[in-house]
Amino acid sequence: MPSNSFDLFIIGAGSGGVRAARLAAQHGRRVAVAESGALGGTCVNVGCIPKKLYSIAAHYAESFEEAHGFGWSASSPTLDWATLKRNRAVEIARLNDVYEKLLGNAGVTLIEGRAEVVAADAVEVDGVRYRAERILVATGGWPARPDVPGGELAISSNEVFDLPDFPRRLVVVGGGYIACEFASIFRGLGAAVTQLYRGVQVLRGFDDDVRAFLADEMRKKGVDLRTHAHVERIDRAGGGLRVVLRDGSELAADQVLYATGRNPNTAGLGLAEVGVTLTENGAVAVDEGYRSSVPSIFAIGDVIDRVQLTPVALAEAMVLVEQLFGDGGRKVDYGLVPTAVFTNPSIGTIGCSEAHARERHGAVRVYRSEFRPLRHTLSGSSERTLMKLVVDDASDRVVGVHMVGAEAGEIVQGFAVAMMAGATKAMFDTTVGIHPTAAEEFVTMRTPVPE
Ligand code: FAD
Ligand code: NDP
Repeated sequence: MPSNSFDLFIIGAGSGGVRAARLAAQHGRRVAVAESGALGGTCVNVGCIPKKLYSIAAHYAESFEEAHGFGWSASSPTLDWATLKRNRAVEIARLNDVYEKLLGNAGVTLIEGRAEVVAADAVEVDGVRYRAERILVATGGWPARPDVPGGELAISSNEVFDLPDFPRRLVVVGGGYIACEFASIFRGLGAAVTQLYRGVQVLRGFDDDVRAFLADEMRKKGVDLRTHAHVERIDRAGGGLRVVLRDGSELAADQVLYATGRNPNTAGLGLAEVGVTLTENGAVAVDEGYRSSVPSIFAIGDVIDRVQLTPVALAEAMVLVEQLFGDGGRKVDYGLVPTAVFTNPSIGTIGCSEAHARERHGAVRVYRSEFRPLRHTLSGSSERTLMKLVVDDASDRVVGVHMVGAEAGEIVQGFAVAMMAGATKAMFDTTVGIHPTAAEEFVTMRTPVPE
């Protein structure tokens, strides 16, 4: 086989692309991956990992404060933004190297540069043409920017990690994952944060109790969260920015972060030109097996715009490679994707919201517990925790597990296994708790919320 010819040519070395490349190479296939940016893609460079590091940084502020209740005393700590940015950058550079080694050790050919599909079996990178039996598009997404006068003065999550100066006054626009997470993070780091959401309640699609509870907790922690809020325009003013809202009110800000969704990264990829069908918002339309309308071209991850989460991109990569080069058979269960929102406090959730469960199953039982975590009996914090189980009454199966509280993602991950195994409420009830933890509440809730 000529050296420019591959069994699988992958465009994008992010979460999905790297996993697919390594697995396909393990099957003994000739694999190339082209990457125009930094290895690891969104998650490693401007997503999950730096975001979680900053979220951890943000929690220290209240930990210092809460320690007083446990007898500790110290002078008021201050944040050195430059140190946080530098240490993050060092860690991300280390991860970029790890990814390079992983690909190299697996025997994957890494091609640096922007790739374009030029035929159903050919890709071009910087003028060099590669032949590929199959092409996998794993190019991820890019922040969407609504067209608002002065919108170019705002930043997106791509820029937020490396702001030269710490934004003392931050306006966040949006009510999804990124907006809520960064409102919490910058509030924790010490900024005055105003979050503007256009709808009734943030985190549309999540359980309604979870949404309302989180919004209350965020407000308690000092985020000025405003609903039904619409940005009219953004101007430069007094060395900073002025955000003018539709109701005529104005906000002064050092930075405005737009977190209003992400669009699939397909512009200029040459896909439509070779006959690949794209959806209205530019996502690659794929069938159950991630195959596009051109039989030799596949797509996974954010670019197919199903569930924009790293573990989902990884799962899709595994299923696709098994299907192409292994024994196939596995599928991604999109109905049971656990997820966490790294707000303060955080959300962990899997399965149906109460509203969705009622639609799907009819009669449901709901178990709900709200309490002050043990830590906060001494810490002086008024933070509370919410736990909720939604049970299909007919089968007794637990169809929704929801939590707002510290380490919610860590806790719900384990319950996700139980859900995959089809656990019933009776099984939850017979499970012995671990005491004293917050998680034990999930196996001790006995009385359903009255209808
Ligand atoms: P990506 O990881 O985006 O990779 C696509 C790659 O393709 C990029 O490296 C890009 O440079 C490259 N590329 C694009 N076009 C070309 C081209 N023409 N030629 C060559 N290369 C190209 N998910 C979670 O599960 N948990 C989280 O906590 C979480 N936090 C997030 C926080 C933020 C701020 C953001 C933005 C996202 C977060 N996500 C999180 C989502 C997660 O990052 C994505 O779902 C995941 O990265 C998608 O992986 P992917 O492989 O589809 O695309
Ligand atoms: P989301 O889709 O989660 O949220 C977008 C938000 O922006 C919604 O509140 C939406 O409002 C609002 N919005 C959309 N268009 C406009 C507009 N024109 N004007 C004002 N508001 C608007 O997207 P994100 O950007 O927050 O994140 C993208 C994806 O990345 C997430 O969906 C998630 O899959 C992934 N992610 C995962 C994380 C995690 O796992 N912890 C963390 C960060 C991102 P409305 O509800 O009214 O439509």
